Amino acid sequence: MTSDPNCVFCKIVARQIPATVVHEDEGTLAFMDIGQVNPGHVLVAAKAHVATIDALSDAQAAAVFRSAARVARAVNAAFAPEGLSVYQANGKAAGQTVFHFHIHLVPRHEGDGMALAWPVKNPPRDQLEANAARIRAKL
Ligand code: AMP
Ligand code: ZN
Repeated sequence: MTSDPNCVFCKIVARQIPATVVHEDEGTLAFMDIGQVNPGHVLVAAKAHVATIDALSDAQAAAVFRSAARVARAVNAAFAPEGLSVYQANGKAAGQTVFHFHIHLVPRHEGDGMALAWPVKNPPRDQLEANAARIRAKL
């Protein structure tokens, strides 16, 4: 499995630094985010050192989302939040600070102060079609 000796999440996976683990399986490790935006905030990380979503193998992608859904059910059962945000950043411009793939599960409550600016553009259909064609050409 790929690992980076300078990566904080690889160190957690290797148990070289402490973490509060909630779930582990062959390909994933879920542990409490040290920052806790809300109580019960968990990170679900790939065990392999893969930086971003586009670099995940099909098996890794399946493993992290299966684990995220399982842990989300447990977070909901344990904390009964009003909602749950799934947040996942890829690249510095997207807000990623730890360059080892992970999914945030954040229990949510009305007025909890978590915010994401969402500047909609509502472009015309022909622009949607043109941009979709660009993506389809690369699949
Ligand atoms: P991001 O890359 O933007 O998704 O954010 C990385 C997240 O990792 C932040 O929410 C940090 O609080 C969290 N984090 C960083 N170091 C640790 C650590 N040693 N243990 C647990 N969580 C961490
Ligand atoms: Zn890593």
